[in-house]
Amino acid sequence: MQVSRRDFVRLTASAGAGTAIGGMVGLGVTLAPAAARAQELRIKDAKTTPSICPFCSVGCATLIHTVNGKIVNIEGDLRSPHNEGTLCPKGAAIYQLHMNPNRATKVLHRKPGASDWEVVELEWAMDRVAELIKKTRDETFIEKLPNGKLVNMTPAIFALGGATLDNEFNHVCQKFWRGLGVVAIENQARI
Ligand code: SF4
Repeated sequence: MQVSRRDFVRLTASAGAGTAIGGMVGLGVTLAPAAARAQELRIKDAKTTPSICPFCSVGCATLIHTVNGKIVNIEGDLRSPHNEGTLCPKGAAIYQLHMNPNRATKVLHRKPGASDWEVVELEWAMDRVAELIKKTRDETFIEKLPNGKLVNMTPAIFALGGATLDNEFNHVCQKFWRGLGVVAIENQARI
């Protein structure tokens, strides 16, 4: 089908179509061959590994496609009774967890009062975090309330988990924090 530039612009802008694709479809242009070819190229010869979305406790099933050990695509698994092949916007972006040039791969530390971050060793950072947790806990620990009620807690430390921490890790994590007397515990996935 011949489509003039004028027809393309008119149909794309009209009837609230909103997108170039909408206009093309309105003109009777079928995108099926191009879409099929793109799909074929993306996962052609890929190995498929079933997995689970790490973002929340729904546990949507995914299929991870890899070529030579490198992830080329992640999508919902149709066989799953949870999600039946669908993924929410967070889950649909899992690919970017793995393939993302902006992902931090080094430990950064900003000294008190400093404006710049500097790269530090992980071992040093772990020791520093442990040192500050102990110091803060020791300085703020409350064993009993004024009315004598035993509470064994610190109100000075807040634990915020990340969305990519799975249920099992969060379970262990909150046990750890509660063992220290931390009561303000939240997970980013619920915020
Ligand atoms: S974040 Fe979305 S895709 Fe992932 S498990 Fe939860 S609902 Fe499913």
